Amino acid sequence: MLERIPFNRQNLFGPEIRYIEDAYLRNKVSGDGFYTHWCQSFLEEKFGFEKVLLTTSGTHAIEMAMLLIDIGPGDEVIMPSYTFVSTANAVVLRGAKPVFVDIRPDTQNIDETLIEEAITSRTKAIMPVHYAGVSCEMDLIMDIAQRHHLSVVEDAAQGINAEYKGKYLGGIGHLGCYSFHETKNISMGEGGALIINDPTLKARAEIIREKGTNRSKFYRGELDKYSWVDIGSSFLPSDINAAVLKAQLEHLDEIQTKRNVLYQRYYNSLSGTEAHSITLPVVPNSIVSNAHMFYLLLDSLEQRDSFISYMKSKNILVVFHYVPLHSSNFAHQHLNKYHLPTTVENAQKLVRLPIFFSLTEGDQKRIIDEVQFFFTNN
Ligand SMILES: *Cc1c(COP(=O)(O)O)cnc(C)c1O
Repeated sequence: MLERIPFNRQNLFGPEIRYIEDAYLRNKVSGDGFYTHWCQSFLEEKFGFEKVLLTTSGTHAIEMAMLLIDIGPGDEVIMPSYTFVSTANAVVLRGAKPVFVDIRPDTQNIDETLIEEAITSRTKAIMPVHYAGVSCEMDLIMDIAQRHHLSVVEDAAQGINAEYKGKYLGGIGHLGCYSFHETKNISMGEGGALIINDPTLKARAEIIREKGTNRSKFYRGELDKYSWVDIGSSFLPSDINAAVLKAQLEHLDEIQTKRNVLYQRYYNSLSGTEAHSITLPVVPNSIVSNAHMFYLLLDSLEQRDSFISYMKSKNILVVFHYVPLHSSNFAHQHLNKYHLPTTVENAQKLVRLPIFFSLTEGDQKRIIDEVQFFFTNN
């Protein structure tokens, strides 16, 4: 049997352990130390963001965003059902209600033409999720939000370094959320970042992230003591994790170049297989993807099941993705009923191929050969 090809693999770039050691030598391994500040400044400068705060996860960045825009009982937040559970949980945790909108069949992103009819007098925000690091139709979404006085929080958990009309994802809405989970392009194990584009939210974001205290101001010497001033929690990661993130961010361009090569090789090699019932991912004009994911849309759930089994028999791990949130047990018990045909259909047809920094050309060719074999013989 040929060696197993995992779905994802971590990569150490070299200086990670030395940076962790250095954090100890600096005698500051809790939050907001040297490495946290380095990473925040790097993201602000590289992407031209107003303000970035590292968080303990992408999930926590979204929860902070909901606190910052004062989501509360009775409020509604519009989002796709085809997303990770954290997008919706952040809303439910505030006693508010996620409202699900169907996705576009091409990008798996929220269908911008269906957003306006989902708005009610209770709607407070829209949360576009940039699936696979391919941007939602942000001009339209920002325009709808402006006309209805809504906040826009981008779930850009998968979107680092990706662009929409020359702007980096996460930097377009009022707030943006990144994830540095091990499955994402850039990883610190568990971690994330909140991007604050609306300057009026900056001061409160620091307070909410520091347990509702003004400790950040105190550390900067702007106060002689700190105290409890607002609600909040502990959303700041240890500087040990930030040390790992620094090493990864230093290789951002290299990681992105490699992922783009892998993406293009999949795309070019599998284009010919389209005749055999595979649909390849679509990146609309004026959008630059970050090659976070390479997925195929197959004909049916049955075909996908047999494809996943076939690849497994060849020791290659390919995986499906979200179970739509509106069809979850939680939603059945607590939320409205929805009819979201594209979400249901594509969730059953979508399968993701391995794409990670250390995937070799040889292993990728092995994957491509098996995909082609399956679809020309089935
Ligand atoms: C990964 C992800 C999250 C959660 O990020 P964590 O860092 O794992 O908490 C949220 N939303 C989307 C769309 C994601 O892909």
